[in-house]
Amino acid sequence: MKEYFPILSTQVNGSPLLYYDNAATLQMAAPVQETVAEHYRTCNGNVHRSSHAMARSTEERMEAARETVRAFLGAEHPEEILFTSGTTQSINLLARIYEDQLLHPGDEIVVTALEHNSNFLPWLEVCRRTGAVLRVVPLIPEGDLDLDAYAQLLTDRTRLVCMTWVSNAIGTVNPVERMTALAHQAGAKVLVDGAQAVLHRSVDVARLGCDYFSFSGHKLGTLTGIGVLYGRQELLDNLHPPFFGGGMISTLEGLHPNYAPLPYRFEAGTPNYVGAISLGAAIDFLNRFGIQALAARAETVLNGIQSIVLAHGGSTVGNPQIRAGVLSVLFPGVHPYDLACALDQFGVAVRAGHHCASYALAQLDISETLRISPAFYNEPEELPQFDQALERSLRLLRG
Ligand code: PMP
Repeated sequence: MKEYFPILSTQVNGSPLLYYDNAATLQMAAPVQETVAEHYRTCNGNVHRSSHAMARSTEERMEAARETVRAFLGAEHPEEILFTSGTTQSINLLARIYEDQLLHPGDEIVVTALEHNSNFLPWLEVCRRTGAVLRVVPLIPEGDLDLDAYAQLLTDRTRLVCMTWVSNAIGTVNPVERMTALAHQAGAKVLVDGAQAVLHRSVDVARLGCDYFSFSGHKLGTLTGIGVLYGRQELLDNLHPPFFGGGMISTLEGLHPNYAPLPYRFEAGTPNYVGAISLGAAIDFLNRFGIQALAARAETVLNGIQSIVLAHGGSTVGNPQIRAGVLSVLFPGVHPYDLACALDQFGVAVRAGHHCASYALAQLDISETLRISPAFYNEPEELPQFDQALERSLRLLRG
């Protein structure tokens, strides 16, 4: 697998790079890099504007990528796939729609305590602006959601439930299918934040039953600045676009714009078409192996890392029933930032901090963790280096 990722042969501070920060961003496979380079070498033109060969060919590639994303998500129609700049923009786009078109004072939005700030702050702000009320599903100490509390929070005022599938801070895998069914029983719509899930779970929006689904390309090894908001067609059909500009009208009759059909009416301005093409290429690459097989590889390494952490006296933050992709850990007497810096001296890339999920960590009475997030290209053979790096780092920091 590593042969596809030349960056993984890099030496850092004299040691082979052990890249365990994949929850932040995944490295780009060589075939994806080549797709991007080849695009600029042979075929570049703006989409939906010009009729020359370069533009047409670029447009075909972008629309082929949309179809690849449709299949990847198990969506019914390519028109349900809106290209955005990433999860954050996807959620803000939906939040703007809810604010302008769908919410009234006293309506309720449910988010979970596990949300990344991108699926927390937009809803907090929308509630502030509209007089809607934000309800938060609490955590139990193991790092799972309190599902009894969730059921109690759902009322006939609940308009939308926003939940991450996989927590980026502690790795909890939420029972999104069950939670979606409950939300629908209460008459609410559901947004699933799939940013961390897409690399570790095969997605089928029909099976999940969700109404909206967001993710970022770079968590799958694309260029940055590309993401997706999936929305069910019958919902999107009835929504007014929140952003305005080129490429999103069919005609302008005097002062009356006739908005373009889906998906273009939600993609004002020049889209990140090369990003979209890189997303198509990244999904094609991942599909060669299958997401489930790739997730199993990552899980093997994650389990190995967990054993090493425990053997060195560390503890895991949360002990959720199902975990994917991420292990957050603490070592007594050692600050996570210091440990991340020390590990970097031995070539190990991990992340320390609150991981933009301060609410979740606060519920567990923690402000920062060391987060270790291996991916499918990491190998059990790396673990002795990690073990040694951890031992040396702890010795260094503890004097
Ligand atoms: N949600 C989750 C669960 C995430 O892990 C991230 C990225 N860390 C985001 C949302 C935001 O993604 P982006 O910064 O790519 O918009």
